[in-house]
Amino acid sequence: MKVSVVKETAPGERRVALVPEAVTKLRAADLEVLVESGAGDGAWLTDDSYADTGASIVSHSEALAADVILMVGKPDAQTVAALRAGQVIIGLFAPLTDPELTAQLAATGVTAISMDMIPRTLPRSQPMDALSSQANIAGYKAALIAATEYVRFFPLLVTAAGTARPAKVLVLGTGVAGLQAIGTARRLGAVVSAYDVRPETRTEAESVGATFIELTSVGPASGEGGYARALTDAERLAQQQELAGHIARHDVVITTAQVPGRRPPLLVTDDALKEMAPGSVLVDMGSSELGGNVAGSLPGQTIVTENGVTIVGAAGLPSSMPTAASAMYARNVSSLLLYLIKDGALALDRDDELQAGVIVTSDGKIVHPALTEERAASVSGPAR
Ligand code: NAD
Repeated sequence: MKVSVVKETAPGERRVALVPEAVTKLRAADLEVLVESGAGDGAWLTDDSYADTGASIVSHSEALAADVILMVGKPDAQTVAALRAGQVIIGLFAPLTDPELTAQLAATGVTAISMDMIPRTLPRSQPMDALSSQANIAGYKAALIAATEYVRFFPLLVTAAGTARPAKVLVLGTGVAGLQAIGTARRLGAVVSAYDVRPETRTEAESVGATFIELTSVGPASGEGGYARALTDAERLAQQQELAGHIARHDVVITTAQVPGRRPPLLVTDDALKEMAPGSVLVDMGSSELGGNVAGSLPGQTIVTENGVTIVGAAGLPSSMPTAASAMYARNVSSLLLYLIKDGALALDRDDELQAGVIVTSDGKIVHPALTEERAASVSGPAR
């Protein structure tokens, strides 16, 4: 069976779906691995390094003709047009927020497997959890960006030229990325507070060194599968207002809040921004085309408000550490692929809970149970 890696096409995307070590693992399972020439360039992985592990270096069209095509992000229109029925394509396709691409993939007749749909609480899915691996990288990088943008020190410094107090950092959203951001900011010497709408995250946040903030105006909002549920309009307003006081007392705010399949909740409003001191920094990891956790944040852009507050729209952070991110993603995707293979051939089985979770399209249809019309419609819903 031929498994290929294509060169990513999204602007700024530097990751690659397999690194040479992962090729070795797949070859040991008797898979033929094809790597599009230049696929690893962005992550400093040369064609030769892949060839040394037994991969064949091929053209774009040869890579697109494989039985299984691996990628990190979404396929572009040209790639979709080249797909044929019966192929399997694996990547991060965000089907909950991109129903159009999902429909296009279904129409080609491919089996589309989306790494971001893996049921994350199953013990056997842990090595395949690309959302966690990439969120870890993003959280780490967000803290570094915050430290770089902040015009004072993160740690307490006592020098002959004076004493610098440690920065006060607030992390909003303490999932995988938030916990990594807390740990990184702590290691840089900041004093870190954290808040999440799921109270069960308190002990995790405390274990990596944060003081957990509890809001009195909003109750717990844990949803299904370890995620948060969307807040009601009243809860959202109460949360925004109470958070504003906490935000104003911090020098740096890192936001990571997400609700699956919905646009990111707005946690830092224009009014809250106005209360922040000049020189404060926000790094919005929720920043996306759909809107972010911080009012006015723009993905990939850094803006400074009239009152001197810097807002970094931190989109695409894993791609800014492409070698580490590719190594982790490669482990995720190769673990999933090996899980799907029996005796050298794909053995897809949608009665298996893990597989049912990741298979999005099959035999010309959208087959994932979560992809109902109501769910897709909620993406553009008004609640923020
Ligand atoms: P995520 O990226 O979906 O969201 C990030 C955080 O934002 C979450 O903690 C969420 O509660 C929070 N959030 C959402 N709306 C909010 C709001 N209005 N205000 C404040 N915070 C808000 O989450 P994630 O990092 O992907 O992880 C989700 C959960 O899944 C975590 O609890 C994680 O531990 C869990 N998880 C479990 C496993 C496992 O069981 N092995 C694996 C991976 C993740």
